Amino acid sequence: MDLYDYDKLFDKAYEKIPDNVKKLKRFEIPKAELRFESKNTYIMNFNKIINTLNRDKNHFLTIFLKKAGTFGEVRGQQLFLKSPYKEQIINRLIEQYTRTYVLCSICNKPDTEIQREGKRLFLKCEACGAREEIKEK
Ligand SMILES: [Zn+2]
Repeated sequence: MDLYDYDKLFDKAYEKIPDNVKKLKRFEIPKAELRFESKNTYIMNFNKIINTLNRDKNHFLTIFLKKAGTFGEVRGQQLFLKSPYKEQIINRLIEQYTRTYVLCSICNKPDTEIQREGKRLFLKCEACGAREEIKEK
């Protein structure tokens, strides 16, 4: 099968998706609710955020804490961060993670899973079938 046929096949498959599925409501990450305590930050709705992203907590933490450049740990439903953080910074870091590790780069839907192949990571999309290599930023 050449590339042209493959494209046609893909278009056909897309046409078969009902319109109501194509127009699913926009995926929204809950905004971080922060609490400050002696110059530290707690993300109070951390569990809710992780559940929405539907990703492994430890994977998220590894990336997030590296970008935030601080120590942090899960405390019950909350995430403790050793430093005061502005709300916009936290939300931006969560958005960055979401764009790279959750949303399909083809159809922008969050119905994906991370697949590991040696050192390479792929994002497999259940919605459109795309499988793209994750480029860590
Ligand atoms: Zn997709």
